[in-house]
Amino acid sequence: MQKPNKRLKNQTCIVTGSSGGIGKAVALAMGAEGANVVVNYRSSKEAAEEVANEINKNKLCGEVIVVKCDVSKEQDVKAMFKTTIEHFGTVDVCVANAGMQIDHPLHEMPLEAWQKVLDVNLTGQFLCAKEAINEFLRRGMRKDVSNSLGKIIHMSSVHEVIPWAGHANYAASKGGLLMLMESICQAYAPHKIRCNSIAPGAIKTDINKDVWSTKEGRENMLKLIPYKQIGVPEDIGSVASWLASDESEYINGTTIFVDGGMTCYPGFTTNG
Ligand code: NAD
Repeated sequence: MQKPNKRLKNQTCIVTGSSGGIGKAVALAMGAEGANVVVNYRSSKEAAEEVANEINKNKLCGEVIVVKCDVSKEQDVKAMFKTTIEHFGTVDVCVANAGMQIDHPLHEMPLEAWQKVLDVNLTGQFLCAKEAINEFLRRGMRKDVSNSLGKIIHMSSVHEVIPWAGHANYAASKGGLLMLMESICQAYAPHKIRCNSIAPGAIKTDINKDVWSTKEGRENMLKLIPYKQIGVPEDIGSVASWLASDESEYINGTTIFVDGGMTCYPGFTTNG
């Protein structure tokens, strides 16, 4: 459905890991707000092109390009920003969404599993934020499109605050993101850069398909959600497009939890 006010018109938005899942919903939401969208993928070009086609169905969206990049590799991230800037002139919004899980009990976790998750979930977000900040500072203010110099949105998780046994690499990466996001805000808010995180709870995507695709898994998941509903990617897309817009201008250096109340620790409802 087309909205009358295009809150991101003439702005360019990179969404990492947007060939599916939450990233896809974010890319669609940005496109629906009139933004130019960079759909980033690591391996699935066809899926990324399908997302681009879907965004293009909305005739009032901006232009969409598809860019391959492994966010854990500095040269790839630099190349993605270069391609974007050559094509669109600048970047206004960077949604660092790409993420992964490789789960093991800590005493059995291979160093490679620890390192890979940190490389993608934390270093990848650092590399994207760094390139975005450099571009915002180089380009300067564009008052005709936004009151902010630029916007960075990190895709975090409820596990930036909830410890997660068997997933320590993932929880450590998301806990690290909290400090990355707040430190960016502290340093660059005076330049009118906004940096925030979105922390999803349980959202139905490939990352947790092994859990929600079985009845038992779904029931276990729902025990953790006071609102008794598993989230869908669009729940995150709508928050992301609002957070990228001037409607949320005064929000900076914070995490928005989109989790049906998961961070209210429902296990303590009956005295714990
Ligand atoms: P997903 O597996 O569907 O999507 C992850 C995307 O990241 C995929 O498109 C994948 O190709 C991409 N990706 C992985 N490594 C990459 C790399 N090195 N370079 C570029 N892209 C890469 O899962 P999702 O649920 O959509 O996850 C998106 C983000 O949301 C992640 O950061 C995840 O941690 C976070 N998150 C998800 C949930 C949930 O319940 N689904 C909850 C909390 C946080």
